[in-house]
Amino acid sequence: MLPTDFDRDTFIQQLREKRSRILPDDIVFSVENGWLPLIAESLQQIEEALDRYGWIEKASIRQIKEKLGDLRIYVRPRRESASFPEALANELSIIRNSYTRRSVKTCEICGDAGELGNFEGYYQTLCPRHANHRRAWIAGGRQGDPFDD
Ligand SMILES: [Zn+2]
Repeated sequence: MLPTDFDRDTFIQQLREKRSRILPDDIVFSVENGWLPLIAESLQQIEEALDRYGWIEKASIRQIKEKLGDLRIYVRPRRESASFPEALANELSIIRNSYTRRSVKTCEICGDAGELGNFEGYYQTLCPRHANHRRAWIAGGRQGDPFDD
């Protein structure tokens, strides 16, 4: 559950400053607020792994997004022709899988416990309350924002 005074812009700004070594200035956080704490944790682990292998200057986050209802964070060598050493690639893949698994149990809107649902072909991980909002929004002809109270 996010704190009631949670502020998206402030959270993202602080995260950008804290993780400036791996976050390009133009990176977009293409997810709703409920997953931002997961992203913060994941970026910390990615940064620590890159540091341990001496790759912090040579890698960066390429994309942060939701796809088919789960969280995807892509980290790549800065040089297209480079590739991560196998041990580092394995660590990064363990981190990625662990946060993908957690994202499909975390409501993307509010951060409460949720599950991955299929909303007429649109996949999203939502708590029961926000899943109801989305179903009601679909039933009501998709007017306005699905998550406005
Ligand atoms: Zn929710």
